[in-house]
Amino acid sequence: MQQDCIFCKIANKTIPVNAVYEDEQIIAFPDINPAAPVHLLLIPKKHIANILEASSEDAALLEHIMTTIPKIAAIAGLAEDGFRTVINTKDNGGQTVYHLHFHILGGRFMTWPPG
Ligand code: AMP
Ligand code: ZN
Repeated sequence: MQQDCIFCKIANKTIPVNAVYEDEQIIAFPDINPAAPVHLLLIPKKHIANILEASSEDAALLEHIMTTIPKIAAIAGLAEDGFRTVINTKDNGGQTVYHLHFHILGGRFMTWPPG
């Protein structure tokens, strides 16, 4: 838990969200400013500022995240038509919240390359 981290507050229930999926390690919930008809954020409950700060100690957690993304996509109805998963990192990546999060976007065709 990092003081003043909004996603730590979501992880520890200080800020309530409508969780789409939750277990001991991770939680997925709707993005407050959706960029697509379905826009979820998946976060580890552990505070990791971004993917640059993840270490080999986090390998099992990252594996859990990657294997749970398709389950969450299926729960959200995105498995049939597909979806996009995005990790923004630091300024050039467009990261605004410095707690690792995975965007799960779908419900429309996602153009490439991203802006
Ligand atoms: P990023 O720009 O990759 O750091 O993404 C941060 C995302 O968090 C943005 O898409 C915001 O809309 C979203 N966000 C910020 N605060 C909240 C919140 N309280 N609940 C849900 N999503 C949030
Ligand atoms: Zn945090």
